[in-house]
Amino acid sequence: MLAGVLYGKEQLRVESMPIPRIENGEILVRVRAALTCGTDVKVFRRGYHAKMIVPPAVFGHELAGDIVEMGGDIEGFSIGDRVISANSAPCGECYYCKRDLENLCDDLLFNNGAYAEYIRIPARIVQKNLLHIPEHVAYQEAALAEPLACVLRGWEETHARAGDSVAIMGLGPIGMMFVCIAKAYGARVIAIGRRWQQLDRAREMGADELVCTEETRDLPERIRELTEGRGVDVAFEAVGKPETWELAVKLLRRGGIVNFFGGCPSDTKISLPTALLHYSEISCKASFHHTPALIRKALDLLSSGVVPAKFFINRVEPLTNLLEVMRHLMSHNGHLKTAIIP
Ligand SMILES: [Zn+2]
Ligand SMILES: [Zn+2]
Repeated sequence: MLAGVLYGKEQLRVESMPIPRIENGEILVRVRAALTCGTDVKVFRRGYHAKMIVPPAVFGHELAGDIVEMGGDIEGFSIGDRVISANSAPCGECYYCKRDLENLCDDLLFNNGAYAEYIRIPARIVQKNLLHIPEHVAYQEAALAEPLACVLRGWEETHARAGDSVAIMGLGPIGMMFVCIAKAYGARVIAIGRRWQQLDRAREMGADELVCTEETRDLPERIRELTEGRGVDVAFEAVGKPETWELAVKLLRRGGIVNFFGGCPSDTKISLPTALLHYSEISCKASFHHTPALIRKALDLLSSGVVPAKFFINRVEPLTNLLEVMRHLMSHNGHLKTAIIP
């Protein structure tokens, strides 16, 4: 089969390799669509990811496809089924799993290898995070369930409510999913981005106010103008830069909540004004990854059209173009997702 193998920093080759062998309880999926993700671009740029992947390895983690082989009888699934498989599964046994914090599991099992014609799905993921794709949902659209589940985790943990004013900083695919979910839950959305191309998309998605950072000298002041002088109830940082994390805190009203959603480069730090945190009772949250329940909820939202899947995929490329696609995503901002078709 053909597969995209990451060898290190910006080192990637689409090459021929044996189809993975499966064991009892595992399944083999013929990948029909794999989606690019900001995490993949980061991994491509840095050459590794502390938690998710150690090269050389086939990479990619958002996928949908058909079951072509099963290791023994597996309840609920048959050869030929259209499925999505999440990129991880929790153990279900540890301290965190027992406290509904499966995303923080002591032994989260990751699976990579979506940029390939075939992928092996480990037994634990088969048991916990393999789902049928509803008939009317396309493969590439169903594959959005994984990133959307992460966004749902961020949304739910932040306890935003209908009528809240919500600032969303960063309008890549994740920021745009936050715009979509915040609107679906009845929030007033202030979308904050650098490029008008992204801001216009946010408007299409229903954002109520658009703020272009290139044209705004004092962002906190602009946000206060848009919120009767208060600041927003909730801010989501979906950029992943320490300076944006620090800025996000300054957009809040008293008692507001910020979610530092965008992961920053490792060993970076931020500094926050203690007086603001204390006297304004600011709450800082961060969210990582997803849980099995949220993968299911995400697929439901895609299936029912609450999240318009088509909106998030604006390019389709064959697997053989993977290197070019990664290079392009690395050097150009403002893209949504590319569907890679092996
Ligand atoms: Zn992803
Ligand atoms: Zn666990």
